[in-house]
Amino acid sequence: MLVAGQWRAGSAGTFGVADPSTGRELARVPRAGADDAAAAVAAASAALPSWASAAPRERAEVLRRAFDLTLARREQLAFLISLEMGKSLADARGEVGYAAEFFRWFSEEAVRVGGELRTAPAGAHRILTLRRPIGVTLLVTPWNFPLAMVTRKLAPALAAGCTVVVKPAEDTPLTALVLGGLLAEAGVPPGVVNVLTTDRPAELVGRVLADDRVRKLSFTGSTQVGRSLLRQAADRVLGVSMELGGNAPFIVLDDADLDAAVDGAMVAKMRSGGQACTAANRFFVQAAVAGEFADRLAARMAALRTGPATDERTELGPMVNERQVEGIARRVEDSVAAGAKVLLGGSRPAGLGYYYPATVLVDVPADAPVAREEIFGPVAPVVAVRDETEALALANDTETGLAAYVYTADLARGLRVSERLEVGMVGLNRGLVSDPAAPFGGVKQSGLGREGGFEGIHEYLETVYVATAW
Ligand code: ADP
Repeated sequence: MLVAGQWRAGSAGTFGVADPSTGRELARVPRAGADDAAAAVAAASAALPSWASAAPRERAEVLRRAFDLTLARREQLAFLISLEMGKSLADARGEVGYAAEFFRWFSEEAVRVGGELRTAPAGAHRILTLRRPIGVTLLVTPWNFPLAMVTRKLAPALAAGCTVVVKPAEDTPLTALVLGGLLAEAGVPPGVVNVLTTDRPAELVGRVLADDRVRKLSFTGSTQVGRSLLRQAADRVLGVSMELGGNAPFIVLDDADLDAAVDGAMVAKMRSGGQACTAANRFFVQAAVAGEFADRLAARMAALRTGPATDERTELGPMVNERQVEGIARRVEDSVAAGAKVLLGGSRPAGLGYYYPATVLVDVPADAPVAREEIFGPVAPVVAVRDETEALALANDTETGLAAYVYTADLARGLRVSERLEVGMVGLNRGLVSDPAAPFGGVKQSGLGREGGFEGIHEYLETVYVATAW
């Protein structure tokens, strides 16, 4: 693990990281104990004053070097992501590019943090606002984007002048450890970024959050864990950013360009094997085109080559672990029992590794598990709808609100639907919303705060107001 610029073993032993393509152990990594948690927070706290007061340009240039180094190591990082997480090499290369862009974007934002000067309404004084870094921040990240979910938090935190403790997911700690080393090479001073690994996350995260020196938590993961961390953060009134689960509707209206809709669906559904919180979870297609859409999507999904993640020819790798495959299989089986019909896939292959095949379900009842719960796998349930009103009603009938997709040739219609979707992000005639220059985040139980865009850095800054008379 990386603490205060030094590599160290874990005081609680080690744990194994598996290769999802075979289920076999790839490596053993340190399990952080209480001493390591305290040392990492102490290091971040000691490094804070000088990093927070470093010239913004200096922080920007470190981030810019991190961008260059990440791209220079694209192949190595992509291979490691594929190996420990199971996405195809093509997807992993895409992830490295996306992850690197957060360093570039926030190197540009680091030098544009402003304050304000206003005149008080009564005219007696001026209202001067300053922005300063919140302080030591804990970053807890998921396994589905082992690199990008870290850089999406780390880059704005560093740009703002915060120091951090990163706790990557237990399934994919290797990429985060390599990133720690890369950042040191880029010139991040010792203690500014610390990386702790563990397979007992509740224990470690609880310890770090209880430490008085920690001021902020940024979390990406399940809504269930997010809720429990919000409760813990309340005890110390910590600032929080939360990127939680999604259940994205993908709406295809009858005037849509079906070729474009199927292309978009392949990206929205199949990127990273469907293991993305923005993944299209429910396809609501106007009845006139529903059959044709489902057939074309099934043909495209059937053509995907499945295999070990790091095989260059693989287009759909394994899921990350056994628990995920079981969850997907259960949702599909229960949905079929509820009346859904299998157009493609639908059953687990025998053999080693955590594979689940590309699957298309039709005639899916709106209350089937695949339409209500986050699938997080390569399963596309298609529901035929009468019109845009019904599509909207079904799309909004959920407690989550992260992303949605709408396909229509009529831009006014598309914008009308977009405005009424209860989500934080809409892809309008586009199957990909993620962009470091755009505010990523959800409404309802999908989260709090935004990552990326002009908004992202503000999650790591607080405002101080000085009443000024002159
Ligand atoms: P998923 O269900 O997709 O694996 P999780 O929410 O379980 O998502 O995991 C996201 C991150 O939260 C990971 O880094 C994981 O180690 C961490 N985590 C899981 N459970 C807890 C917990 N009880 N307390 C703190 N962190 C947790």
